[in-house]
Amino acid sequence: MTLAETPNHDNFSNPLLTLNYKPALESLGDDYYDEVAAEEFPQHILRWRNDALLSHLGLNAQAVTDEHFITAFGKFQGRKPLLALRYHGYQFGTYNPHLGDGRGFLYGQVRASDGELYDFGTKGSGRTPYSRGGDGMLTLKGGVREVLAAEALYRMGVRTSRCLSMIETGLSLWRGDEPSPTRSSVMVRMSNSHIRFGNFERLHYLQRPDLTKKLLDHVIEYYYLHLVTEKDKYALFYAELVKRVGKLVAQWMAAGFCHGVLNTDNMAITGESFDYGPYAFISTYDPYFTAAYFDYYGRYCYGHQPSICQWNLEMLQEPFKAIIDPTDMAAGLANFNDYYGAEYRCLMLKKLGFVKLSHPEADELLELTIAFLKESQVGYHLFFSEMARTFSAKWRDEPACVLNSSDIVPTADKSAIFDNWCILYHKILNDFAVDQMNTIAQTLADHNPKTVPLRPVIESIWKPIAEEDNWQSFVEIIDQIQSK
Ligand code: AMP
Ligand code: MG
Repeated sequence: MTLAETPNHDNFSNPLLTLNYKPALESLGDDYYDEVAAEEFPQHILRWRNDALLSHLGLNAQAVTDEHFITAFGKFQGRKPLLALRYHGYQFGTYNPHLGDGRGFLYGQVRASDGELYDFGTKGSGRTPYSRGGDGMLTLKGGVREVLAAEALYRMGVRTSRCLSMIETGLSLWRGDEPSPTRSSVMVRMSNSHIRFGNFERLHYLQRPDLTKKLLDHVIEYYYLHLVTEKDKYALFYAELVKRVGKLVAQWMAAGFCHGVLNTDNMAITGESFDYGPYAFISTYDPYFTAAYFDYYGRYCYGHQPSICQWNLEMLQEPFKAIIDPTDMAAGLANFNDYYGAEYRCLMLKKLGFVKLSHPEADELLELTIAFLKESQVGYHLFFSEMARTFSAKWRDEPACVLNSSDIVPTADKSAIFDNWCILYHKILNDFAVDQMNTIAQTLADHNPKTVPLRPVIESIWKPIAEEDNWQSFVEIIDQIQSK
């Protein structure tokens, strides 16, 4: 059983502390983590609580006060041990054995109402043995940015971690990429697991196949449960991881999302997306768009994400070689492009309004769409949200009617690609019955949100926070993102 810190009445009545906590990772023993203490902050101002997630945890949001959040996720009272996980990783292609949770820890693991196990992991909760030269902190802007990324990605159907809370902590931080001093925050994020590719890479580096196997068994037991009784469970696990990652990258690409830092310590073994630092949603379609200012050679640019994730999966074969037949892993990885391609196609067709399109020209439509977005540099998200906003059954009348009430697209004869796109879209629409137009309109609305936190949007939210401590835009935009 997980030990409770000095029990007191407040802790027993705090719904966040009486959740169904399970010491899953802790029970593996201390080869995988270090017990750490949380920073004691001078101030705790709750800036964001994700009530949408509380019901998922089986809690009634009204029964959880702001003070409950602050006690649990700002003061970190009532739970021990707090575990800084040990991991290494390939950073920009180079192996780094000096990583690990340097500004976060695993606060607890909870069985939620869907029966799945979730981690509560912190970011900005103080120094640990892995902080190296860092201060262990998260800037308030960094917290705001991660909340926005996670909620927007979730809305767009990406398998992602989400933030439970973000608390301003009253410290002044110095950062090269923000006007400094800048404000501080601590965030708690919820995801299935914070075990990264890098946790396994570390065990390989330490030449501990025994610990690798123990951790892999744990991963399969908790996150690939359907494989536990399979004879080939290890090879099947790797094959499924390849599939999950292939799908995840397709979700990012369709969402126009550039993660920015796809080091192997930022890749979850569950195939979830997490850790949103210098990310960006692309403004226009540009495969070479690079999100991190320190990514000098564009290694992690938008268009490289599929091949980079494939490379990360390949590197992960090294620690698994002691357990899984390399031929099996090579065969598993060979499917990556198919998984990625099929999911990307499916998601992009949904963005174009089609849940299922067996039309022979579906691929041509996709190619024309990308070619147009690339040539015109019309806003990537704007294009699709304008499709959703202006869609009309009249688009079936003639090609010139398609998207004709939106002023973001070229007028007739200005772009051959766009004209061809309209001709094809019109043709495909006419293969559907009139009464199916509502379904198409709904699909467009479901898959193309009006609100996407592009960088200028984030800056416009941040400005009033920085200048007048005005959080209204932040609250409004999250409401818009969360409401379908
Ligand atoms: P990231 O780029 O956020 O994925 O972090 C890479 C590594 O640097 C991880 O080991 C982090 O824990 C660590 N790290 C990042 N920022 C800080 C910080 N401000 N203080 C201590 N460690 C940090
Ligand atoms: Mg990271």
